[in-house]
Parts: sequence; C-alpha cells; structure tokens
Amino acid sequence: MTQSLETDAIASSEPAISISHLNHYYGQGALRKQVLFDINLQINRGEIVIMTGPSGSGKTTLLTLMGSLRSVQDGNLSILGQALLNASKQQMTLARRNIGYIFQAHNLLNFLTAYQNVEMALEIQDMSAAEADTRIRTVLSAVGLEDRMDYYPSNLSGGQKQRVAIARALVSQPKIILADEPTAALDKKSGRDVVEIMENLARERGCTILLVTHDNRILDLADRIVYLEDGYLVNPASVGVSVQ
Ligand code: ADP
Ligand code: MG
Repeated sequence: MTQSLETDAIASSEPAISISHLNHYYGQGALRKQVLFDINLQINRGEIVIMTGPSGSGKTTLLTLMGSLRSVQDGNLSILGQALLNASKQQMTLARRNIGYIFQAHNLLNFLTAYQNVEMALEIQDMSAAEADTRIRTVLSAVGLEDRMDYYPSNLSGGQKQRVAIARALVSQPKIILADEPTAALDKKSGRDVVEIMENLARERGCTILLVTHDNRILDLADRIVYLEDGYLVNPASVGVSVQ
C-alpha cells in the first residue's frame, strides 16, 4: 500500500505522455518503410490535445504506439512515467490499464445492451457488484443515456452508440483517453456533442485526452493542437490550422 502510494506520488509529477526521438517503420527488408520520423511530444496531465493531419500521415500509428497497442521500435515513449521501449507483454498490458480507447467505429457488441457493453470494460473482480452497478449507471447517465441503458446498439442512433463507447472507455476511470476519429461517422451536431461530453467528463476527472480528428469544427475544444504530416510533427500555425 505504502509503496503504491509512493509510486503514485512519483508518477504524478511526470507528464501523462512523453515522446522523444520516436521513429516507426512498417514492413521488412526492401519493403521496409518509415512512417514516423523523430517525433517529440509531451502531453501534460489533464491536457486535452487534438492531433490532426492528412490521411496516411501516421496519426493512427502514433496513437496505437501511445496506447501500448503496438511495440515501440526506436526512440522513447513513456506513459505516466512508464517507458515502453523494450517493455514486456506484461508491462504493455499494465500500461493499457490506465488508458481508455475510443475508435471511429464504436465497436459495441450488438448482442449486449448499452449497460452490458459498459459492464464488459469494467474489471469487476476489483469491486462489489453494487459498486460496479453504481459506476455503470453513473457513467451512462453522464453521457445522457440514463433512459437507454437497456437498449441494444441496433436501437440506438450513431451519436448514442458513440456515447456508449465513451462511457465504456471512461467507466474504468482511466488517466488517459485516446480517441481515433471518434466523430468520423457522425453528423456535425452529434459529433460536437459527443466530443463536448468527453471533454467535460475528462476535465471533471483530471483525465488527459489525445483526440485524432479531421473535423475542424471541434478544434476549439482542445487546449493544444498538434499537426502530423508525412510522419513529421509540424507546427500547426505553419500549415494554416487555426482554432476558430
Ligand atoms: P493516418 O491514421 O494518419 O491515416 P496511419 O498511421 O494509418 O495514418 O498510416 C501511416 C502510414 O503507414 C500510411 O502510409 C499507411 O499506409 C501505413 N500503414 C499503416 N498501417 C500499416 C500496416 N499495418 N502495415 C503497413 N503499412 C501500414
Ligand atoms: Mg488513422
């Protein structure tokens, strides 16, 4: 107990995400292709950062590296103070416990209700059934689905499904949320609603968000915008990306 408190105290002074001289390659031999070039980026705890840039520029690759869903090949990447270069499978799994993921396709299970989809993401062995139930109901209410908990995904709108996906990502109270084009399948209004809900919940909980988007109608929700082009992080001002 004491040890974990001390570890937390040390870790809390670290940035949420710290990346230096990160390179990434796909393929082998003659087909080997570099897709990320000398990435340097620090994201502080509680910060909400939007990453934008053309299709194929490496955004998803960078997000999956940060999310410990892909092994770091070259360079330094730390999540909450834990280095991921040469991390074991077990260390990668542990790093993932601190992260909630939201993808473009909501990836809900169609044979489970909204409530059950959120329940799946909760490690219920760590808590009583009553506590789990409270957590699931609280987070579904926070995304405005208190009267849709027993609905199956096929009876929910696109925006509602994406809100279930947000509830699922947040129910385990992760310190970091990684979202990859979460509004891509939504109309303008529901896209903005979904991101505002995510932002409010994250701010309430001191959660860090990195959100990849092409949607320039939500850029103003970020504390900071970073721009990726052909595998390089560039200054957004130099490519004319601005917050309206
Ligand atoms: P973005 O998310 O910005 O569209 P990606 O990270 O998906 O970019 O892709 C970056 C580059 O890496 C692209 O050229 C893409 O074709 C390539 N790429 C992505 N995933 C793979 C993979 N699994 N194998 C080989 N090449 C890939
Ligand atoms: Mg992508």
